[in-house]
Amino acid sequence: MKATKEDRKITLDVISARPLPATEEGEMAARLLLRSAFRAATRRPAPVPAVSRAMAAGGIPTDEEQATGLEKVIMKATKEGTDPYSMMKPKEYAGSKADPHLVPSITTKRIVGCICEEDNTAVVWFWLHEGEAQRCPSCGSHYQLVAHELPH
Ligand SMILES: [Zn+2]
Repeated sequence: MKATKEDRKITLDVISARPLPATEEGEMAARLLLRSAFRAATRRPAPVPAVSRAMAAGGIPTDEEQATGLEKVIMKATKEGTDPYSMMKPKEYAGSKADPHLVPSITTKRIVGCICEEDNTAVVWFWLHEGEAQRCPSCGSHYQLVAHELPH
């Protein structure tokens, strides 16, 4: 197929991408373009929503927000660093009269096993009662019962 003179002219117009002729339509189009560009440049960016899972913000409630009952009590205790179930390693005491081993109990007595010396293979068991500090019948270490309340 042989291109006519008219075809060649159109092709040339497209390639050269000349500015639009200053007709009324062209001017209007340019103005519209300019206006939307101006708007895009001056418009404030939409506020970025804060990263939050909070229920108030319509997000997913956190564990703290939806916990109830015992779970909430445990969560609060864990946050405060308390040990409601005595799950952590007990604090060490000297076992002297001034610094007796504190034994938490939910009742008025508790069985205590004393490993009198570090390498002992036998444990000396005895009942520790509420009131004054008691001594291990074998080594004489002091033990003191302290009231402890379970969350439930
Ligand atoms: Zn002992």
